[in-house]
Amino acid sequence: MRKKIVAGNWKMNLLSNEAIKLAKEIDHEAVSVNEVEVIIFPPSLFVSDIAKNTTAIKTGVQNFYPLESGAFTGENSIVQIKDSGATWALIGHSERRAIFGETQDLLKQKVDAAIKHNIGIMFCCGESLDVREKGEENVFVKKQLQDSLFHLTPEDILRCAIAYEPVWAIGTGRTASAQQAEAMHFEIRSWISEVYGQETADQLSILYGGSCNASNASELFACPNVDGGLIGGASLQLETFMTIVKSF
Ligand code: PEP
Repeated sequence: MRKKIVAGNWKMNLLSNEAIKLAKEIDHEAVSVNEVEVIIFPPSLFVSDIAKNTTAIKTGVQNFYPLESGAFTGENSIVQIKDSGATWALIGHSERRAIFGETQDLLKQKVDAAIKHNIGIMFCCGESLDVREKGEENVFVKKQLQDSLFHLTPEDILRCAIAYEPVWAIGTGRTASAQQAEAMHFEIRSWISEVYGQETADQLSILYGGSCNASNASELFACPNVDGGLIGGASLQLETFMTIVKSF
């Protein structure tokens, strides 16, 4: 009923020749994996070349500015990223929230800009270790979704995927257990159902991210409410990434 998705967040890694080579190799292998949507998020500089050189996978951006043009030195506009061939965008990644100070309000503006320009949204949410140790992860994640995403119409929310990424698991080698991931994904789906109804909740893909790798992906993806993964470090190697893609 829901799309299975595996996405690779390459962050600020690879040079152009390495990035294009890896994208082409993933694209070649992805041809035979029809049941999974594969998306890669390379550095923006390489998006245009990668989008032109691939057919089976989708290409997205890790960041954009939610206006169409103007005096915003150093930024790429939503229109420019669409023009580059990107069809997806990451919004709300914890590194952008923590390092670049992106607020819930800016994320809401990004969500609206992406919808307006028909770019798929991979909306990231997740709590820090401190929040989890206090037992407040549900309240925290629900507020992230309420503040930046749940204003969308029922039709538009279906142009999104949600990536639950506990901050304490990102790049740390410490993965959430399958039970922890399933518990949060179940909650997220029930909040979607509260706002949009069960039918919409059943259609929306919720991915897990945070030290997901070739060894733990199949256990995570076997959970009823885990519809795939957003993969950081392990998406930079062809074999590892494709093992994850094939882990359903
Ligand atoms: C990420 O950056 O979205 C991520 C999940 O990273 P990693 O897989 O390296 O923890």
